[in-house]
Amino acid sequence: MNTAIILAAGQGKRMNAASNKQYLILKEKPIIAHTINAFEKCALIDEIILVVHEHEQEFCQKSILEKYKYTKIKGLVKGGKERQESVYNGLKEIGEETNIVLIHDGARPLITEQVIQRCIHGAIEHGAVSAGVPIKETIKIMGKDRFVSYTPKREDVWVTQTPQAFQKDIILKAHEFAIAQEILGTDDAMLVEHMGLKIKMVEGDYENIKITTPEDLIAAEAILNYKRKR
Ligand code: C5P
Repeated sequence: MNTAIILAAGQGKRMNAASNKQYLILKEKPIIAHTINAFEKCALIDEIILVVHEHEQEFCQKSILEKYKYTKIKGLVKGGKERQESVYNGLKEIGEETNIVLIHDGARPLITEQVIQRCIHGAIEHGAVSAGVPIKETIKIMGKDRFVSYTPKREDVWVTQTPQAFQKDIILKAHEFAIAQEILGTDDAMLVEHMGLKIKMVEGDYENIKITTPEDLIAAEAILNYKRKR
């Protein structure tokens, strides 16, 4: 059984919006509804756990879940202060039958079924995977006082996206290890790396952007317009 944890409990301060960025409208629908839809219609996903801010649980239930009538939502879970805590709260809701856990940012509404499928197949084969894309720019690693320390070879640098997918025992152990060692990661793959395990990168999608700042919403709308014309 494959379970997706979708995270929507962030505050999204960089969006400068009055409401949580996940509920902003993108092409007639809230961002989070686009995201849930992609997982809902993917045949390989059996159930979805949605992590939301405790003050937004009722709003989300009425304005998203009841309105769009999803069938795979297993439950609404209260988010934590940090993203990592939100993921862990979601992990605690996972049942015995789950083999593969996918973790996805609710703020990435342009996720496709193909990328979700690649992540699931990758996790079955390799144990722990992340969607990602090769970097287009040249990256500089900074030293002190903003002097460049070195320049990694471009072909070695990928941008990490979500979904990240894991065999259940691996991701549970990684989160428990991180709590015990007081490690705070910016993604879940990083916690698995801390346990000394390898992450396989699977091909993501340049269109799978994370809505973080106002111009991302404009870009997402342009991508959706372009997709509809294709
Ligand atoms: O803040 P950032 O854009 O990196 O967040 C990535 C995803 O994690 C977002 O979908 C956000 O809602 C979620 N998140 C969460 N709980 C937090 C912080 C972020 O669910 N405490």
